[in-house]
Amino acid sequence: GPALLFVKTSQGKEEGRRFYACSACRDRKDCNFFQWEDEKVSETRLAAREEYNRNHQPFFTHRQNVDRYKNFVLLPLSKRRFCQECQQLLLPAEWEKHSDHQFLCDITTAQLKSPSQLLYPLENKKTNAQYLFADRSCQFLLNLLFGLGFRRVLSVGTPRLHEMIQSKASEEEEFSVRSLLLDIDFRYSQFYTEDEFCHYNMFNHHFFGGEAARETCRKFLYEENGERVIMVADPPFGGLVEALASSFKKLMAMWRETEKEGHDSREMPMLWIFPYFFESRILDFFPSFSMMDYQVDYDNHALYKHGKTGRRQSPVRIFTNLTPSMIVLPEEEGYRFCTACQRYVSSGNQHCEICNSCTSKDGRRWKHCVLCKKCVKPSWFHCNNCNCCTLEKHSCEKTDIGCFVCGKAGHKRSACPSLSCT
Ligand code: SAH
Ligand code: ZN
Ligand code: ZN
Ligand code: ZN
Ligand code: ZN
Repeated sequence: GPALLFVKTSQGKEEGRRFYACSACRDRKDCNFFQWEDEKVSETRLAAREEYNRNHQPFFTHRQNVDRYKNFVLLPLSKRRFCQECQQLLLPAEWEKHSDHQFLCDITTAQLKSPSQLLYPLENKKTNAQYLFADRSCQFLLNLLFGLGFRRVLSVGTPRLHEMIQSKASEEEEFSVRSLLLDIDFRYSQFYTEDEFCHYNMFNHHFFGGEAARETCRKFLYEENGERVIMVADPPFGGLVEALASSFKKLMAMWRETEKEGHDSREMPMLWIFPYFFESRILDFFPSFSMMDYQVDYDNHALYKHGKTGRRQSPVRIFTNLTPSMIVLPEEEGYRFCTACQRYVSSGNQHCEICNSCTSKDGRRWKHCVLCKKCVKPSWFHCNNCNCCTLEKHSCEKTDIGCFVCGKAGHKRSACPSLSCT
């Protein structure tokens, strides 16, 4: 899909030079597309790029994958193989070609229903950053959505939530929830029809399946028979908030346009799962959102597991435009209701009388600084040189350009303390 326009700033210069680069890959090693905004592209280079793109298409189309799946499920257990190297379901005629690859045998229906367990997570931080929800967190999200009365979930980059909804819906009759997965990981097209999965890039709102896929999404967002829909997104944390916000706004607009009379001035309900240190960035784009204290845990991310076991606590939170008091957090995991704030908070999060809010972002008890006029991390001290609270050990020189990640002055993106744990 479309590239994003970036700007290269060099120190001392007012204006930087603008260039286009891949929206999905934040590492030039993964995608080397680069073009100055004002560059004249030769016919030869254009042709070479098109040739490159043609050669890098997935081997099978989504339609072909759907047909293959239909044939696959007809096979007896003993003939159901999954090639681990190609990450592909194999039909018997193809065994030969994959004979020197590792494969799994006897693929059960249960395995086909949880592709996120069958496929290996694409952990490449700069592109897919596929971190799967721990069961506990996934269950929590699902119960929350269902309890709030939502019956349709637009799952943006949440394959595990999608599959949990799908399996529960197929097993329990009273659980009538549908999900549409939008994800850039095309491997999922082997397990879901075009009505269940769209190959989608959430950094530029590109549907790889073209108008037909857009239409699928549009139809899904149309709320028939009072079935309310919500969007749940869990993007890669290295992603640009601005690009993500722009795509989410487009999905929200799609929802708004499905209703002839319009949804008054309502905003499409959404849960955006992202680290707490992006709070101010997210609120810049979505002022109606608030951050919940709930810590989202992941299976394959050693650092983001639940705090109670002595491990580090997860910095990942839920941002939502739903009324905070409706998001009930589990007491048995240490959350409580603050009547003054009208929301559930971490047990360690003390209500500050001066700020009139439960101010902790990370679950630890924060302390109020009268000079900064706000609560700060327990490990911080007020530095009179810098005129703000910061770590006791720091160098007082400031760089005046704000960090690209957290927006704060004093350090560059590469040294951003927020990213040290991602
Ligand atoms: N916790 C979620 C997974 C989040 S990981 C779960 O368990 O369901 C981030 C997800 O976003 C991955 O599935 C990844 O494939 C997808 N993703 C990464 N870059 C993307 C992009 N540019 N567009 C759409 N999806 C993307
Ligand atoms: Zn409070
Ligand atoms: Zn305070
Ligand atoms: Zn201070
Ligand atoms: Zn200082």
